[in-house]
Amino acid sequence: MQFKTPYVAKVVYPSLVWDMPSDENRIYLTFDDGPHPDITVSVLELLEKYNARATFFCVGENVEKFPETFKHIKSQGHSVGNHTYNHLNGWKTNNNNYFANVEKANKLIGSNLYRPPYGRISPAQIKQLKQNYKIIMWSVLSYDFDARVSRESCLENSIKNSRPGSIIVFHDSEKSKEKMFYACEGFLDYFSQKGVEFASITEKNV
Ligand SMILES: [Zn+2]
Repeated sequence: MQFKTPYVAKVVYPSLVWDMPSDENRIYLTFDDGPHPDITVSVLELLEKYNARATFFCVGENVEKFPETFKHIKSQGHSVGNHTYNHLNGWKTNNNNYFANVEKANKLIGSNLYRPPYGRISPAQIKQLKQNYKIIMWSVLSYDFDARVSRESCLENSIKNSRPGSIIVFHDSEKSKEKMFYACEGFLDYFSQKGVEFASITEKNV
């Protein structure tokens, strides 16, 4: 299981953002697939407890269903990014449909940060989207969505592979919630005690 993004991916796709600057004592938590009216709100409460800011890559159709939750994320000082309207897999989607779906989500989300669902995006899609978006990948995948990973292992591996500048992926979704809450709280606790600050990725700092 590949918790840490392999070096080769960063070399092959240098125009994607894999890490943030490491010279500041900051870690960048990201939450994909929301907003969800209960789970996302609980994540916001958890983040507040640690005075942490994060970045939420939202699915357009969920923003449409839960506009209040979406507003709530932004009102707490977190950033939002585009994760397509229907959580499309770029490798399996015709380019025109893919770009139209991203644009449909953009009308609801209004961010120039973009994260491809499943991390799957073709070179042609990158070339097109990078004209309007910063494409944000990750340094560490928590595997909170994976039934084969225990919550303890999810936490332990997320901590072990993270350092200042790391971008970590969690999911504010039904499928991931149990492991996500356990690992995310443990992660916040561990790094807060080390004096690390949790910051959001913004159009300015990326
Ligand atoms: Zn996703």
